[in-house]
Amino acid sequence: MFEKFNEEARRCIFMARLAAITEKSKNIGLPHLLAGIRKESPAIFRNVNWAKLPLKLARLSPESLHSASQATGEIPLDAKAKRVLAAAPELAKKLHADQITPTHLLAAVFATDAKLRKQFQKAGMAETSTKSAATQRTQAAERLRIARSGIGYDLHRLAVNRKLMIGGIEIPFEKGSVGHSDGDVLGHAICDALLGAAGLGDIGTHFPDSDPKWRGVSSLVFLRQVRQYLERKNWKIRHIDAIVIVERPKLGPHFPAMREALAKALAISVEQINLKAKTHEGLGEIGRGEALAAQVIATIES
Ligand code: MG
Repeated sequence: MFEKFNEEARRCIFMARLAAITEKSKNIGLPHLLAGIRKESPAIFRNVNWAKLPLKLARLSPESLHSASQATGEIPLDAKAKRVLAAAPELAKKLHADQITPTHLLAAVFATDAKLRKQFQKAGMAETSTKSAATQRTQAAERLRIARSGIGYDLHRLAVNRKLMIGGIEIPFEKGSVGHSDGDVLGHAICDALLGAAGLGDIGTHFPDSDPKWRGVSSLVFLRQVRQYLERKNWKIRHIDAIVIVERPKLGPHFPAMREALAKALAISVEQINLKAKTHEGLGEIGRGEALAAQVIATIES
């Protein structure tokens, strides 16, 4: 039953049992669940004035709970508490959450007992946290969780006496990419994919190569800037998948450093970036080692 509950939510239920034991109650009820959530996730209740709540709720403070070692024996859940534990997974599912958290538990408590919800509202809890939390959050989630994808492509010539910058790092090689900025095909294609997904134009509009201020600038600077454009529009980066097409050198050994640099610039985790390398089978300008290119698909969500 509890496999989808995260560690914190499990501890909330454990603490609810302690609250019931402390009160010498025969069942675990909603006040005990609330006491458990309060003990484990006090931040959720930061605006609540407990003195304004019915005495029973106020009395079940985190300090009043017995230590775990004193608790023995099984205590059943009462009917309402059972309904909460059944509602919480449904709620988490509607919110596309992989795990049930204390927030889901609390929303399920308030969805199960409207009187409690009103009492907490009167005691200072923000309406957004209480007002039919289940309904409100579900509606908001359905309204706002939109995913979009964007595509990016870039190509640069390769020439001697240039640095080879790919994915924000320098790759030791006899040639480097020619460009107004650092010529980083991967960094530039990621910028374009992200801007495209967000409907924000392209890299040339934001960082025109006619502007001397972008001369020699690292693609990581562009990526940080693009990330800020996305943040302003409330977009979050979900995933980036990229192919770098280059005959030589071999890029695989450099992927970990590239992913790290890119993830840092975009404020995401390395797991959200997938890199692949392809040769051009000796064909065309890429195959002859005269150029390199990158293709990227970025997925973002609001
Ligand atoms: Mg470029």
